[in-house]
Amino acid sequence: MSAAACYDVIVLGAGFGGTLVALALQKRGLRVALVDRGAHPRFAIGESSTPIANRQLAKLCEQYGLDEIAPLCQFGTWDAAYPQMGKGIKRGFSYFGHELGREFTPEPGHLSELLVAASSSTAVADTQWLRSDVDAFLCQQAAKGGVDVWLNAVANPLETHPRWRLQLDQSGETTNIEGQFLVDATGEAMVVSKWLGHELATLRLKTWSRGLFAHFKGLPPFEELAKGCGAVTGDYPFPADEAAVHQVTPEGWMWQLRFTNGVVSAGWALAKPGDQAFSPAAEFQQILDRYPTLRSQFASADVIAPAVGLVRTGRLQRLAAVAAGENWALLPGTAGFIDPLYSTGIGHTLTGVWRLAEILSAGSQQARQERLPEYGSEVLAELHWIDELVSAAYATLGRFELFTLSTMLYFVAATGCERAGSGLAHAGFLGANDRLLVRAVLEAKRALLAGQATGQDAATIAAEMRDLLTVFNVAGLFDPRAHNMYEGTAAPDV
Ligand SMILES: Cc1cc2nc3c(=O)[nH]c(=O)nc-3n(C[C@H](O)[C@H](O)[C@H](O)COP(=O)(O)OP(=O)(O)OC[C@H]3O[C@@H](n4cnc5c(N)ncnc54)[C@H](O)[C@@H]3O)c2cc1C
Repeated sequence: MSAAACYDVIVLGAGFGGTLVALALQKRGLRVALVDRGAHPRFAIGESSTPIANRQLAKLCEQYGLDEIAPLCQFGTWDAAYPQMGKGIKRGFSYFGHELGREFTPEPGHLSELLVAASSSTAVADTQWLRSDVDAFLCQQAAKGGVDVWLNAVANPLETHPRWRLQLDQSGETTNIEGQFLVDATGEAMVVSKWLGHELATLRLKTWSRGLFAHFKGLPPFEELAKGCGAVTGDYPFPADEAAVHQVTPEGWMWQLRFTNGVVSAGWALAKPGDQAFSPAAEFQQILDRYPTLRSQFASADVIAPAVGLVRTGRLQRLAAVAAGENWALLPGTAGFIDPLYSTGIGHTLTGVWRLAEILSAGSQQARQERLPEYGSEVLAELHWIDELVSAAYATLGRFELFTLSTMLYFVAATGCERAGSGLAHAGFLGANDRLLVRAVLEAKRALLAGQATGQDAATIAAEMRDLLTVFNVAGLFDPRAHNMYEGTAAPDV
């Protein structure tokens, strides 16, 4: 039998997270293997970036010399460098509130609409990633950069300590590889946690939601339908559909992420289990039928991907009990997942990629061992922090005015980090390491939920939340004069 190929680091999972960590380490001179059970291009969900995600990507590209990838940090540079690669413009977050059985009803003062800018122009805008294109491009870059890429390879562990020894099976042909360290970037497969027999800690999470999604063609922009319902859009801070669009209903919310090629990623995140007696397509239509304006919007839209049609998931939330050990670490998207709301997945994954690349490429083995426990506990604490922010939104789904207030908890944290500049990994993702911020946000969340429970009006609750968050409200949120149209929240241009 031939000797096993030896690596410093084996990365399992060639989504964008695993691929970027492999590439960064290779650039630092480490020998890296990147292994995936599938191949590219392939359908992948999770597409909306944010200012924090793009700043983290820019920092990674600069520090590790990833020049070909750097254009992806903004819409303008991406479009100029790679016009063919699937992408969309994301100027911010748009929310529309829907009531059961009623057409979308615009209210004076935009009470059933909320637009929060994230970027000041199309050129510097955040992006929607057509993941099949982006992940394939990144994987090509990794192979070009010298990473040994093993696709369509099923990995089985032969040894896990003190070195990893894996048997890779590619269509019946087996190869053994060895590595000193293993990064698990397999996402929901959570391969290493399973191999090591770790229990999950999902029960500690507060959010409960499930997904029902696909990619569509023929979906008109929602702003057109809103106008048809009488919405006055002259003071919208950006075109409402050049954004992560959220259709908010009492039973859950729908995302709509538009790519420039006319494809739209759309899906429900639903707050209760569904009836499995209905097919995913039948359930999707049943929900649309309860919200007439959404039903009209989808009337001539067709599912174009994935090939199996609409995907229905079980509970989306999952959480590892441990995120790093002596010779292994999980990327954030493998350690856990909360919900698509607030598009935290890409940014959190990139934060983890940057941190792990720093830990694994610098310093002695001993320094690495010292920093890994901190890495692991930070990733888990950040997932709990996201859970706090997201669960507030789910608790208020039934009243759009209160849902709007719940989003302010996230926007206070995000805009603070965006303005801190260096605020990325060091302050913790979305400021999770900032104890004063976390305490103030949790107090404001309690005020919101208590106000909801006692039937307080939204203006009174908003005033209390604004007072509790004054120090951290650096972008003019909670301003009644803004009428739910926030332009000044755009991240500073870089
Ligand atoms: C419904 C939904 C919507 C989302 N929307 C957003 C959004 O709008 N914005 C956002 O920022 N985030 C979003 N996310 C989160 C986002 O999808 C993740 O953060 C992101 O996919 C993490 O990337 P990754 O590369 O770490 O893992 P993944 O993209 O999950 O990649 C995992 C890779 O591991 C491979 N793999 C699996 N098992 C094995 C194995 N046994 N051996 C080898 N390889 C294996 C897979 O083939 C895959 O290539 C969403 C998630 C969901 C579920």
